[in-house]
Amino acid sequence: MVKKSFGYYCYVCGHQNKITPDIPKAPEMKKHQVECSNCHDKTHILVTSCPKCDEGVKYFLSDLDFPEEVRRLAQAYVGLIKGIKDSLAGYIEEFDVPLPKRWSVSLDCTCGNTYTAEIPLPYALG
Ligand SMILES: [Zn+2]
Ligand SMILES: [Zn+2]
Repeated sequence: MVKKSFGYYCYVCGHQNKITPDIPKAPEMKKHQVECSNCHDKTHILVTSCPKCDEGVKYFLSDLDFPEEVRRLAQAYVGLIKGIKDSLAGYIEEFDVPLPKRWSVSLDCTCGNTYTAEIPLPYALG
């Protein structure tokens, strides 16, 4: 876990805020809620850092609750799996389907490293 200060621009008023979140190394990600010091708009960021160099901090800023969006995508996927499962009913007694627990994103660092960060899905699915 590294701590680094960086600035992000508020998407509502454009004010630059300085934050110092805990930043885990990829594939771990950490979610923080941040508040603009000027207009008090609240938003969520997900942060992670390059596992090789410690310098390549990446963050995702969203006006929506980002894991909530991811969860909806994952549920569409789960719905699809369930459809497959239902079509097998009557043929197979039990059919275990691995559900996605993490959502992966591929990232590039300025040091040349390419790595994967995993967004944990916060809910039990299915
Ligand atoms: Zn603002
Ligand atoms: Zn790097």
